[in-house]
Amino acid sequence: MSSGALQPIRGMSDITAPEIFLWQQLESTARKVLSAYGITELRTPIVEQTAVFLRSLGDTTDVVQKEMYRFEDRGGRDLALRPEGTAGIIRHIAGAGQEAQDARVYYIGPMFRAERPAAGRRRQFHQLGVEAMGAASPAADVEMIALQAHLLESWGIRNFVMQVNTRGVGEDHAAVAEGLRDALKPHLSELCEDCQRRFEENPLRIVDCKNPQCREIVSGIPAVTSFMSQESRDYLDEVLQLLQHLEIPAVANPTLVRGLDYYAHTVWEVTHSGLGAQDALSGGGRYALKLGRGAYEGVGFAIGIERIVAVLMGQGIDPATLAQPPRVWLVAQGEAAVLENMILMQSLRLRGISAMMDLRGRSMKAQLRAANKAGCPFVVIRGDQEMEQGTFQLKDMQEGSQTELAMPELLERLLART
Ligand code: AMP
Repeated sequence: MSSGALQPIRGMSDITAPEIFLWQQLESTARKVLSAYGITELRTPIVEQTAVFLRSLGDTTDVVQKEMYRFEDRGGRDLALRPEGTAGIIRHIAGAGQEAQDARVYYIGPMFRAERPAAGRRRQFHQLGVEAMGAASPAADVEMIALQAHLLESWGIRNFVMQVNTRGVGEDHAAVAEGLRDALKPHLSELCEDCQRRFEENPLRIVDCKNPQCREIVSGIPAVTSFMSQESRDYLDEVLQLLQHLEIPAVANPTLVRGLDYYAHTVWEVTHSGLGAQDALSGGGRYALKLGRGAYEGVGFAIGIERIVAVLMGQGIDPATLAQPPRVWLVAQGEAAVLENMILMQSLRLRGISAMMDLRGRSMKAQLRAANKAGCPFVVIRGDQEMEQGTFQLKDMQEGSQTELAMPELLERLLART
C-alpha cells in the first residue's frame, strides 16, 4: 500500500477476486431458492428521504438515533443512506397501491450504519432480505423461517442456531414495558449508561443489551413473554408447533428481543459460534408499521452477507477454487494470425465460450506462458505453418495432447460441453 494512495472509508471495503467469486455464487444460489418460494426482487434506491426511516423504524432505535448516515443535499433535503432494507420496501408498497399489499419481495445490496467498526461490524455491509406482506398468520411466519433455514443450508452453512420468540401483539407492548420497568427498577443504577436511558424510552432494549452486567441482571427477571396476552403466547405456540411439523431446526428463546420497535408477534435470530462477538448471521420477524396514512403488516428477515462469507471461509471454503479460467487461450504468430484469432475469439465469445488472447503483440513464447498461467483447458495456436494450411493446433491441456484441426472441427471441439 503506497502511503499517499486513497483508501476506502473506514469500515467499508472493496470486494475483489477471489472473494467475489464466493459472493457471486451465494447470490446466484439465493436467487434460485427465492424463486422456488415465488418471491421476486425489488431494487429500491440506496438514498431515501430520512423520513422514510424515521417514520417506519421509529425514532428510539439505535439504528435511527446513532447510526444513520444522514445528510442534507444541495437542495436542502434531509436524506439518509439506507441503514436497512425494510423501510424502503414499505415506502414502495405504500406508493404502489392495492395489488402491492400482498407483495413478496427480496433485496440484495449494501446497507450503511455509522457504527464503531470492529471485527464483523462494518459501516457498509450487505444484506439479503425478504419481506412478505399480509396480515398476521403463524403459517406465514413459519414459511419465512423455513426459507431462511433453506438459504443457509443451500449455502452450506453448518451448525447455525436459530432462535425464535415473540414480541407479542402491539397492545402488549405497553404492558411489557411496564412489567420490565417494575422488574428492573431495583437494578436501575447498576445498568449501563445506554440502558439507563433505555429504561424510560424503550426498556425492551435492555433485554437485548450485550453488556455482561446488564445480561446478568436481565437473566434474573421474568421472561418478556410473561407480561404478554394469552393471544400472543398462543400465536407463538402455533409457530413453534408448525416449525416442528416442518422439521425446521429452531429453538424457543424467551429472552430474544429484536432491536427495532416495529416488530409484533414472531421474532427470530440466527447465530453462529464461528463468528466471535458479533455472532448474528441474520434476524427477522413480523411487523406492523405505519407510514403516511397507511399501516403495513408483513414478515421478513435480513441476512448479513459478510458474515455468511466469514462462516464459509471458517469452514474451509477457498474462494480461489471458484474462479473459472477462460475455456480457451488463442496464441498467434504474426499480424495476419492475430487478426484471424481476434475474429475467432469474437465468434467464440458470441457463442458463450470464454476466450482470451494477447492484444499487446507479445512473442509466441510470452503468449504461451500467459496461456499456461491462465489455466485454460484449451490453447489454440495459429503459427505461420497453420496459416498457410488453414489449420489450427489445438492443445488439450488436461490430456496433454495436441491435434491439428481445420476450423469446423476446432469449433466442434471447443463448443462441446464436456
Ligand atoms: P439487523 O438489520 O440489525 O437485524 O441485521 C441483520 C443482519 O445483518 C445481522 O444479523 C448481521 O448479519 C448483519 N449486520 C448488521 N449490522 C452489521 C454490520 N454493521 N456489519 C456487518 N453485518 C451487519
